[in-house]
Amino acid sequence: MKLKIEDKFNKELPADPILDNSRRQVSGACFSYVTPKQTAKPELLHVSPEMLENLGVTEDDAKREEFLNVFTGNKVLENTKPYAMCYGGHQFGNWAGQLGDGRAINLCEIEHNNKNWALQLKGAGETPYSRTADGLAVLRSSIREYLCSEAMFHLGVRTTRALSLALSGDKVLRDVMYDGNSAYEKGAIVCRIAESFLRFGNYQIFAARQDLQNLKRLVDYTIKHHFPYIGVPSKEVYIKFFKEVASRTLEMIIHWQRVGFVHGVMNTDNMSILGLTIDYGPYGWLEGYDYGWTPNTTDRQHKRYRYGNQPNIGLWNLLQLANALYPLIEEAEPLETILNEYKLDFEKGSLNMMRSKLGLEVEDENDQKLINELEDNMHLTETDMTIFYRNLANYKKESTSKGIEAIEKAFYKPDEVVENIKMRWQLWFGKYSERLQKETLSDEQRKVKMNKVNPKYVLRNYMAQLAIDDADRGDYNLIDELFQMLKKPYDEQPEYQKWFVKRPDWARHKVGCSMLSCSS
Ligand code: AMP
Ligand code: MG
Repeated sequence: MKLKIEDKFNKELPADPILDNSRRQVSGACFSYVTPKQTAKPELLHVSPEMLENLGVTEDDAKREEFLNVFTGNKVLENTKPYAMCYGGHQFGNWAGQLGDGRAINLCEIEHNNKNWALQLKGAGETPYSRTADGLAVLRSSIREYLCSEAMFHLGVRTTRALSLALSGDKVLRDVMYDGNSAYEKGAIVCRIAESFLRFGNYQIFAARQDLQNLKRLVDYTIKHHFPYIGVPSKEVYIKFFKEVASRTLEMIIHWQRVGFVHGVMNTDNMSILGLTIDYGPYGWLEGYDYGWTPNTTDRQHKRYRYGNQPNIGLWNLLQLANALYPLIEEAEPLETILNEYKLDFEKGSLNMMRSKLGLEVEDENDQKLINELEDNMHLTETDMTIFYRNLANYKKESTSKGIEAIEKAFYKPDEVVENIKMRWQLWFGKYSERLQKETLSDEQRKVKMNKVNPKYVLRNYMAQLAIDDADRGDYNLIDELFQMLKKPYDEQPEYQKWFVKRPDWARHKVGCSMLSCSS
């Protein structure tokens, strides 16, 4: 296997001088050297052909023993020095101090086709940042991360990627619902890939420790390698840097809202500085359209990270990043301006995103109202988001009275769709028809456009769970089937029609489907 290794992070930034792998506070350093744990009996379950290509690795290479050993941690590539990153973060609104890569180990960075890729193993053993946990990952959460990160990419949402999914052959003890029922599960390792895994928390930790020298080093490094187009570091460029991060974060979140993705744990340690969706834990996909929904049972009480709150949390997290960067800028006003712009840009961006979901190209001053009324209607009775928007594209603008027929498959409880709800839909479709008269596209043209922003296939929570249940029994076919299908989420793919359905009833309250904890 020939990889063009171009390590930068562990060459240009300060390393933790202590080499022993004990759990501790690490100060004055961006990372600690660690070696992945040897695994008992590693076995590759899936490899992403697209990622192989991105890295310049052939399919033949991927079948060799070396590939298996490198991407499960059993072999360290020559001329590389694996490391775990130091970061802090706000968890559920509170400053949590040092967190760090507790179970992620960066192998190296490689360059291919002028792109930088950081390769990281998740679940490869403990690091100085493992705190009270074991540094390992279980099969179920690894399948979820592997499938969803690649699916997000194909949906057009910026994200970390995944190269491989492997079993470690080791057993891992987990208490899935935190209710005192621990059990052994199969251990697994995902090799995930991104231009960089830097998070808001990497900057916050230095600010919290008033280590301005390293804060500056890290920001300068980030600009040099990841935002070179904004200029050479200076106070002005730090402001631009913050603006860039804010724009990318917002763009990512608007995409989440578009496809119905709920991250579940938007702590600042899970916010990528590059605006990538990162750390797929107790995430979920909206089925019934519900602003108040979160898949994360750990957040059940306050629902801080519910679907409808994601844009606000993005802003809150950016405020924390602004606080961390402030000592380099020493002026609050430009940072405040950017945070205020986020709010305006969100209004605008969200409106345009919703317009595109409805197939509206012209801008009309009443669009926001039309959208608000639509969302109100979708909350009247449980209405499947994906099916709703996909089928809305079949609506013909002349067929005012038949609107509800186009979308009735999206209702979970058709019995609940009583007269008064029907009437509200009829009213709405009347307005939608009228609004469509202002558009120039034909019904057929509009449908083509809408189907490019309203996916037909997403990784519904129960689908991932079915793949997990099969994999637990040693059958990995469904992982591959879902992986293939999710590469073309906007295509009709009639061969996969069986996945274009509402969540089955058995999955409504099943652990792993609608309820997920942080235990992974
Ligand atoms: P998360 O909520 O998954 O983003 O994790 C929050 C923090 O806990 C991060 O610092 C993780 O590295 C750490 N962490 C999560 N799971 C484990 C584990 N099994 N072993 C060690 N550290 C972990
Ligand atoms: Mg995390």
